[in-house]
Amino acid sequence: MAFKHTYKQMLDRAFKNLPKSKNITTRFDIPKVTGSLQGNKTIITNLSQISKILRRPESHIFKFLLRELATTGDMKKGGTIFIGKFSSGILNTKIEKYVKEFILCNQCKKPDTKLIKEKGITFKHCEACGARSSVRSLK
Ligand SMILES: [Zn+2]
Repeated sequence: MAFKHTYKQMLDRAFKNLPKSKNITTRFDIPKVTGSLQGNKTIITNLSQISKILRRPESHIFKFLLRELATTGDMKKGGTIFIGKFSSGILNTKIEKYVKEFILCNQCKKPDTKLIKEKGITFKHCEACGARSSVRSLK
């Protein structure tokens, strides 16, 4: 069967690539947040830019950040608002966490992944090695 054949090839390839990928640490340039504090609010001004670089919907990153920071917020044209004071250090750490969780492949650590939804479950599908892993859904 064609499927079996392809699957075997994929495994072979994944296996061959294994020792190499240990030495090559795929450095993925994670963009840094820019923003400011305004009173009791934190405004990120480059979330749409970040979402373009990460190739993920801005709203998805926004939902992730809300959950991670355990706060509420609002997506506005001039910037993304989070209630509370969050340092850029914290925000950058969260973006890194997002990248690890929703972008980098669990197997080959490459950023060439897509999020696919099937029967209510979201999967991270790697276009480089074919690996697939489920990720938590953000509501
Ligand atoms: Zn992969």
